[in-house]
Amino acid sequence: MDVTIVGCSGSFAGPESPASSYLVRAEHEGRTWAILLDLGSGALGALQRHVRPDQVDAVLISHLHVDHFIDLCGLYVMMKYVPGGPMREVMPAWGPAGTGDHLARAYGNVDAEDVLGVFELHELSDGITFRIGPFTITSVRVRHPVEAYGFRVEADGRTLVYTGDTDACDALTPLMAGADLVLADSAFVEGRDVVAGIHLTGRRAAEAAVRAGGVRRLMLTHIPAWNDPDECRAQAQEVWPGEVELARPDATYRV
Ligand SMILES: [Zn+2]
Ligand SMILES: [Zn+2]
Repeated sequence: MDVTIVGCSGSFAGPESPASSYLVRAEHEGRTWAILLDLGSGALGALQRHVRPDQVDAVLISHLHVDHFIDLCGLYVMMKYVPGGPMREVMPAWGPAGTGDHLARAYGNVDAEDVLGVFELHELSDGITFRIGPFTITSVRVRHPVEAYGFRVEADGRTLVYTGDTDACDALTPLMAGADLVLADSAFVEGRDVVAGIHLTGRRAAEAAVRAGGVRRLMLTHIPAWNDPDECRAQAQEVWPGEVELARPDATYRV
């Protein structure tokens, strides 16, 4: 299983990266399967450097903040109007309750059915597990001002964890436990961002990974353009015993 960082800028697209989107691929039954974890602001553009977007097998949306879902609007256009027609009729998509209504309103289409007709929508809830080709995915409710999920993606005997947006919470332990690679929200800076219940800091991401146990690699992501990534990494490094990695746009990592 590989993960490609389509976008890792926190909260809004930055000068060097779109907002959140991660392309996860694995071989299965003679072809490459691909799922997307989030499709935030600007990500649909960068995604085209790596894959034809309408050929992705499914899109998973962690929560309905624009830096995680808004480029579904562009994907709708591509799915519906690509010359020659899409390779398939509908795009399977998972998201929190209300994803369909939210998407139709965001696109501004008076006919919600028109927008929703290209997506086969499935509702996430805490602790559900579902399969997409080689991937076994578990969604875990995390701590954020809106309904938000982290994803545990298992394939080829390996485990990738994406926390989505979250502050420290007990759910991070079952989410992260034993993961080969954790992509952890690190939008906040310890000592500067004191409001609780929104984001992890590098330090809190590392503490959660240590507490969960068995995590092999910790990679910080969702760092906004106004932060110094090295400061976030240094804060995590005070806690994490191994090398703290920073997600790099367009990089592909073997999980
Ligand atoms: Zn976010
Ligand atoms: Zn958010």
